[in-house]
Amino acid sequence: GVPFRVSVEAIGGPSGLAQRRAVAKAITLLESTRADHRAQADELLTALLPHTGKSFRLGISGVPGVGKSTFIEALGLYLIDQGHRVAVLTIDPSSTVSGGSILGDKTRMERLSVHEQAYIRPSPSSGTLGGVAEKTREAMLVCEAAGYDVVIVETVGVGQSETAVAGMTDMFVLLQLPNAGDDLQAIKKGVMEIADLVVINKADIDPDAATRAQAQITSALRLFGHHGNPQHAQAMHDAHGGAEVRHWLPRVMQLSALTGAGVDRFWAAVSDFRHLQTANGRLAARREKQALAWMWERIEAGLRHAFRQHPQVREQLAGLSAEVAAGRVAASTAARQLLALAAQGAQTASGT
Ligand code: GDP
Repeated sequence: GVPFRVSVEAIGGPSGLAQRRAVAKAITLLESTRADHRAQADELLTALLPHTGKSFRLGISGVPGVGKSTFIEALGLYLIDQGHRVAVLTIDPSSTVSGGSILGDKTRMERLSVHEQAYIRPSPSSGTLGGVAEKTREAMLVCEAAGYDVVIVETVGVGQSETAVAGMTDMFVLLQLPNAGDDLQAIKKGVMEIADLVVINKADIDPDAATRAQAQITSALRLFGHHGNPQHAQAMHDAHGGAEVRHWLPRVMQLSALTGAGVDRFWAAVSDFRHLQTANGRLAARREKQALAWMWERIEAGLRHAFRQHPQVREQLAGLSAEVAAGRVAASTAARQLLALAAQGAQTASGT
């Protein structure tokens, strides 16, 4: 095969066509499933890593039609106007299930996508959600090394993808429609609980409904009280010798992505979040936790893969599975036998 020639210098170099090409190539390399590409990709990540981590990572989610692409385009153009460089990465869980795509079929963010200071990358089109999430995390690092100081990770509000995005970003924003208060779906689903900020979009259509939704969701968030747990606040207070350490309380705001009304207030809220959570140490703690969780997730995926590839396991798996299914062998017994086979082989392999 043709070896990838990804230039670390070009990624870290001046913004322009050469950099965009290098970034695109690097992400394509990261998405490749070939073993030799993977080795190259790991080398690339190691080279880029010292130049990452300085960006703000913003996760955005919401059901199809809520206005994600309209919002991200408005926000992106606003940020570029303020001197930022913006990367947008997408996780589309539908592509991992059906091979189709909820997000990718239409032309999205036409103005932002052609802007010199923006980089937009659609979701990897195959793989498990865990695999797609891994690629997106790695793509995020490439974008950071290229100097995109705001990285937006977008996902559609189905399945586990929202948890995955919240788990790789500094701040997780949930977009809602003005009737969201009436439909408690999102609240039940637990997604609202992980949101740092809830945005009622399309407030221009029905301002009264938007205001109602804002009140309903605000009280729902108080019930969860996760970030704003008073006991926790007290503990923080005590731990810091009584000095006041403030922390972020989730907010709900209204916005119109179509008219752009509220985009500036949105960014002001994001900046508040960033300053507060940096000062109280929570942003750094969140990133540490994410990096370790990512490592363990990959270790587990790697172990599972190695297990299934193991020759003795492959020999025994079908037979033992049938025994378990028929109720002749206990599931836990079969698991122990298979794990013992895999462990034996691993010891032999490392002993030679
Ligand atoms: P996505 O599927 O979440 O990416 O949603 P889109 O951004 O494609 O928006 C879906 C539809 O809603 C489009 O026709 C948009 O023009 C429209 N839309 C998005 N934001 C607003 C808004 O704030 N107000 C109004 N009136 N329409 C909006």
